[in-house]
Amino acid sequence: MRTSFSHEPPSGPHVWQAVFRVLEQSIVPQALQTWILPLEFSQIEETPAGLSAKLVAPAEFSAQWVRDHYLKLIEGAFTQVTGAACEVRIEASKADPVLDYYQETAPAPERDSVVPAQPILQTGVRITGGAPAGQEHQVDAHYTFENFVVGASNQFAHASAVAVAEQPARQYNPLFLYSPPGLGKTHLLHAIGNHVIAKHGGRVAYLSAERFVNELIESLQHRRMPQFRTKYRDSYDLILIDDIQFIAGKNTSEEEFFHTFNALHGSKRQIVVTSDRPPKEIEGFDERIRTRFEWGLVADITPPEIETRIAILKSKAEDDDVYLPDEVATMLATYIRSNVRELEGVLTKLKAQASLTGAEISVEMARHELRNVIPSESTQYTVEAIQAAVAKHFQIRTQDLKATTRARKIAFPRQIAIYLVRKYTGMSYKEIGSHFGGKDHTTIIHACEKIEGDIEGNASVREAVEASQNLL
Ligand code: ADP
Ligand code: MG
Repeated sequence: MRTSFSHEPPSGPHVWQAVFRVLEQSIVPQALQTWILPLEFSQIEETPAGLSAKLVAPAEFSAQWVRDHYLKLIEGAFTQVTGAACEVRIEASKADPVLDYYQETAPAPERDSVVPAQPILQTGVRITGGAPAGQEHQVDAHYTFENFVVGASNQFAHASAVAVAEQPARQYNPLFLYSPPGLGKTHLLHAIGNHVIAKHGGRVAYLSAERFVNELIESLQHRRMPQFRTKYRDSYDLILIDDIQFIAGKNTSEEEFFHTFNALHGSKRQIVVTSDRPPKEIEGFDERIRTRFEWGLVADITPPEIETRIAILKSKAEDDDVYLPDEVATMLATYIRSNVRELEGVLTKLKAQASLTGAEISVEMARHELRNVIPSESTQYTVEAIQAAVAKHFQIRTQDLKATTRARKIAFPRQIAIYLVRKYTGMSYKEIGSHFGGKDHTTIIHACEKIEGDIEGNASVREAVEASQNLL
């Protein structure tokens, strides 16, 4: 299991996230969803006996249920994660701290704003009035929970997103998702939006933080701030803001976002944001905003394991009705590891190529595509592939490379092939010799040294090596 704090002292929410992952292994999904997911992490502190953690359940009855059924498991998971004996207290939620805060400190509503929308999601009754929002929400119907492939690397983020979409503004508000690029944050945002629209009929806005900033600037310029505020504070039940790190350091935007956030949260509307890093690592971020993000649930996505990468490829191919042979899926997933968007990009290229040539996607096609995507160092080339490439470049037969002839027409390509095999496979000289008709290791060493030396000063050698490499 992966924990995200192996090099630094654990911060509370991270511990809870890791503990959750442990619990996932032993509690059935239904129970996990009902009892464990709603728990909110409150604090963890050192005591003379070890550690003491506090979790908050949404209501007394659920707190009691968790104490009766899961306390030992939860304590065990905390101990496993922190390495210290841990006592856990489960309390029932009292007041809503954000609501209290908002009532004390929020600015009075704009005079000319429309009547604030009632929170609808708890009741399922749709509000009318408010600013026209329908055509603006920009939720992309293509990204759904159904076509999101779940694996260990995104399970927690996915479960959190589902919980929020099922019961917006109930348990996790805000939900904060973060990951490096291309791992499904935007996909999950839209999936939440689609689910909420379908299930609750709520009014949903999806927007990038960049767009929030641009609209804000425009509204300031054209003296339309009241409309801007009405729109973002009063007209949506769910706001999905992508790449929130964009507003960091932009003071006016942060200030406006802060009040927008308070207004939404205070009236029990759900907020989901994404970022390329956790709240505490967003540089120059307003401390008040950071704190608010940490009140909710913070979940990260890490690069998917190979099985998940293969499953994603297969699911995308199936959606597009394209035949993707297993070995090609495996090959792509082996070489493209850290970014699902790139994985998809290669699949799209292969699809295009297949449909243009009328051929099915093949291993050869994939290998060709991958050549441009992966740095050559990480490629596992075989002796055969290298010999074939060199032979092709010099227009000789592969057998010639293994023969004993010393004619320069053959000997030179042979030296290049030997050099490349050494470079790409790291095989021993002796072993390389066996792939070239049983040549002596001194012959192999000589070939490697010769080419290595010539590559620097001799353009035609360098070109021949590069041309052969490019055929790999
Ligand atoms: P991010 O917002 O994190 O940069 P995206 O949500 O834009 O990433 O994802 C990039 C692409 O990868 C999208 O086309 C998305 O559908 C796809 N993708 C990422 N993760 C998954 C997944 N687990 N299952 C299916 N598709 C995924
Ligand atoms: Mg994104």
